[in-house]
Amino acid sequence: MDYREAIAQAVELIKGHSGFYALTGAGMSTESGIPDFRTPGTGIWEKIDPIATASVEVLYSNPRLFYEVGFARFASITMAEPNAGHYVLAELEKIGLLKGLVTQNIDGLHVKAGSKKVWEVHGHLRSGYCLGCKRRFPFEELVQQVELKRIPPMCHYCFNMLRPDVVLFGDPMPPLFFEAWEVLEKECDLMLVAGSSLVVYPVAELPRLAKKLIIINLQPAGYDRQADVVIHEKCGKALGDILNELSK
Ligand code: NAD
Repeated sequence: MDYREAIAQAVELIKGHSGFYALTGAGMSTESGIPDFRTPGTGIWEKIDPIATASVEVLYSNPRLFYEVGFARFASITMAEPNAGHYVLAELEKIGLLKGLVTQNIDGLHVKAGSKKVWEVHGHLRSGYCLGCKRRFPFEELVQQVELKRIPPMCHYCFNMLRPDVVLFGDPMPPLFFEAWEVLEKECDLMLVAGSSLVVYPVAELPRLAKKLIIINLQPAGYDRQADVVIHEKCGKALGDILNELSK
């Protein structure tokens, strides 16, 4: 199937299904300058091992390594801005076609772009919390303490360590993942997966809940064989073309 044909088929599926949801991964945000995990040449796995620098185990056993290496990557992401793909998904929701989206990304760019129904199932970088008293703090508080070399950053009230509100390797999935699962299981008759290798579980189980599947990804990914439409193109371009066709 050539590119134009694939876009046309995706548009027909979107027009014909009312339970339309999206699932996005790190590839959605590479056009905002945030490296993903697995793109050859630029992916984070080729430079640092996130499990060795940003897991729950490292946070507890070697907070200095966590905050100087793993956390530094988180902090660098907060300056990014949404790209065309994020805005298209926000627009598809605004015009009533997209019911909601699940994202593996922690960068908050769907929320910044104006998407309303967003399940950030791996957390986000807007806040952190105290491991002792559980009080929440703005993410900026953690960044400022780390910049001042107060490592690990501490709670002003009970002097326990602060951690970011992201799901680290070794953390359980948050309740909102299971909430998203239930909604998709009941309502999702079409899922668009954008920018995900679909190899990180349990999120990679979610496409199984959809009756029809559209995949937009630069490289072949999990589920290409099960998908109804596969588009090997950048998210920004492919989503832009889908919106243009829908608007005709
Ligand atoms: P991944 O790195 O495993 O896969 C990303 C996929 O996107 C790759 O297959 C790549 O070919 C594709 N891709 C890259 N740029 C693209 C583009 N512009 N258009 C279309 N496709 C593109 O990412 P994943 O599947 O999300 O899983 C990895 C984990 O990475 C997730 O758990 C996520 O939490 C974490 N992560 C998040 C961020 C972020 O918040 N932006 C960044 C890096 C990693």
